Amino acid sequence: MSENWTEEELKASVDVYVEMHRRESSAQAFTKKSYYEMLANRFGRTPKSYEYRMQNISYVYALQGRRWISGLKPARNVGANVIRVLERLIADSEGQHIGSSAAFEASVEKLRKNPPSLPPKGNKKPPATQSSVTQFVRDPEVVAWVLATAAGNCECCGNPAPFMREDGSPFLEVHHVERLADGGEDTINNAAALCPNCHRQLHYGAQKQKLAQELRRKISRLRLTTS
Ligand SMILES: [Zn+2]
Ligand SMILES: [Zn+2]
Repeated sequence: MSENWTEEELKASVDVYVEMHRRESSAQAFTKKSYYEMLANRFGRTPKSYEYRMQNISYVYALQGRRWISGLKPARNVGANVIRVLERLIADSEGQHIGSSAAFEASVEKLRKNPPSLPPKGNKKPPATQSSVTQFVRDPEVVAWVLATAAGNCECCGNPAPFMREDGSPFLEVHHVERLADGGEDTINNAAALCPNCHRQLHYGAQKQKLAQELRRKISRLRLTTS
C-alpha cells in the first residue's frame, strides 16, 4: 500500500475505526461501508482503499494484543513508520495510551521471518524513554474473588496452575474477557482466572476470538452483565 497518505487522512481513518470499534463494543449497529464512502467523498480514494486501511489499523490493534473489529482481518503489509503514526493517532483518538509498542512488535514479527544470520550486538546500555500510560483503576476484590472461585485451576483449559507463588498459592492470572482498554468492565462478569499459556493465547493466539467465545460458553458468570 502506498505510504503517501497525509496525516489528516490517516487521522480521519483512525477516528472512524475507533468509533466503529466503540460501537461494536457496546453492541450498537453500524454500517462499515457508509463510513468508507464518507471518507472516499472527503479525500477522493476508493471506499475499498479505506477498507484496506482499516485492516492495517486492525493490525496495530492485533500487535497490541487487542480485539479488532470483526470482518476487518489484520493486514500486515504496512511500514514501521506508518504503524508508529497509526499507534499515536489511536492513542489520541481513544484518549488513552495503553503503553505497548506496536511498531516494536511489528519489527520483531518481520525479523522473525528473516532472522539475523549473525548474533546481533544489541545494546550494552539501552537508551531509556519515559511516557505516560493510561492505567485503569482495578478492584482487588474482583481479582481475589475470581482466583478463589477458580480454586487453583485455569478456567480455560482446566489444568492446575503451572507453579506456586512464593507464598505457596497457585499462580493464575486474572484476564478481562473484554479488555478494559476496549471498554470492558472490571467486574466478575468480565474476569477469568487463567494459566499463563491460556492467557497469552487469548491475547495473541490465532484462535483468540473462538477461545473467548468458548470461555463465555463455559463460565456462566461471563454471560451475565451488571450494566
Ligand atoms: Zn489454561
Ligand atoms: Zn488479559
